[in-house]
Amino acid sequence: MKTLNLHKDVSFDVQKLREEFPILNQSVNGNPLVYLDNAATTQKPLSVINSIDNYYRTINSNVHRGLHTLSERATEAYEASREKIRDFINAGNTNEIVFVRGTTEGINLVAATFGRTSVNEGDEIIVTGMEHHSNLVPWQNLCREKNANLKFIPVSDEGELILDGFENMLSERTKLVSVVYVSNSLGTINPVKRIIETAHKYNVPVMIDAAQAVSHMKTDVRDLDCDFLAFSGHKIYGPTGIGILYGKENFLEKMPPYQFGGEMIKSVSYEKTVYNELPYKFEAGTPNISGSISIGAAIDFIKSSGYDNLYRHEQELLAYANEKFNSLGGIRIIGTAKEKTSVISFVLEGIHPYDTGTILDNLGIAVRTGFHCTQPLIEQRYKLPGTVRASFAVYNTKQEIDMLAEGLKKVKNMML
Ligand code: PMP
Repeated sequence: MKTLNLHKDVSFDVQKLREEFPILNQSVNGNPLVYLDNAATTQKPLSVINSIDNYYRTINSNVHRGLHTLSERATEAYEASREKIRDFINAGNTNEIVFVRGTTEGINLVAATFGRTSVNEGDEIIVTGMEHHSNLVPWQNLCREKNANLKFIPVSDEGELILDGFENMLSERTKLVSVVYVSNSLGTINPVKRIIETAHKYNVPVMIDAAQAVSHMKTDVRDLDCDFLAFSGHKIYGPTGIGILYGKENFLEKMPPYQFGGEMIKSVSYEKTVYNELPYKFEAGTPNISGSISIGAAIDFIKSSGYDNLYRHEQELLAYANEKFNSLGGIRIIGTAKEKTSVISFVLEGIHPYDTGTILDNLGIAVRTGFHCTQPLIEQRYKLPGTVRASFAVYNTKQEIDMLAEGLKKVKNMML
């Protein structure tokens, strides 16, 4: 198997870090894997893999049920992870941390509970023109059910939100603003704090889709003062099938349960049920225990890498990729916001993104092609059949970007 020595060109000790990610050390289609699809999902360090392994080897048991020792240990680890997450996003208390399947489920939970009980005919919900389908379709559906209206903050050609008219969109009819913190297809970091401040002037609560934010920058829910925030474990070097919904306690208290069954109850008779306290009211059924514990290991990984290092390294990669792409010619970058995370969406002029993606895959380079679950943004706003997206994580290197650039030259030679 061919392997790479990828560290020489970067200040961050990326080689040492890469050793913690066994999946990176492999060939794909006869070439060393260059994994640049991190906005879709990140790879997992050994500490996370070991945490999952260790859970099943040593303490697998159901939580909050048995009095026996294994169940107590599993419950302790599960709740310790909740506390770790609380601290990580600086929530006020663990009642505000709900384990869900991912960002999608977090948003659906808010739409199905807060949304169904507070949105009525003629009311309005505001999102942006760059939402992932997960932060669009649940609100579209709710508005359809309730005969309410969905409004959009427009997006500029550069991929920034046009906020001039935002304040005028807010009224007593507005029941929620739900905004993506970092765009998965453009990389734009949106000024969510400013959006929250403006919405709160009109007593409108704000939900933040932080799926693409948490792995790149410190996210502090109390500083932001957001009312809800959701993110996914698998995008922050943790496992799939686990995510977090943060909600301010006063909102969560008033919301009805999302699903019904075991765990979310305090007492049940044949006639009626008394629901459990927060956060268990929203955690019906046996949860993803190993995932909930291992997301804690992912948080430890991020903390030990340090947000400053991580951000600096990724920004260096982004700047380097921009430079490389500019010198390539015949390439159009979609999303040139001033504040961006390490995502580059682009199209090679005259070449369909799917062709680019297929040829790159043959070279062992994993990128994403298509709408990136933001079809309205790519198709209606930018009038494109899709883009190619390279997204960089903490373990990527400049040499990998060189390989991407070489790959793109080959694509052009083959297709043009
Ligand atoms: N929002 C954004 C901005 C995303 O990038 C994603 C995942 N691509 C989601 C929501 C949905 O996350 P998940 O599929 O983990 O629920």
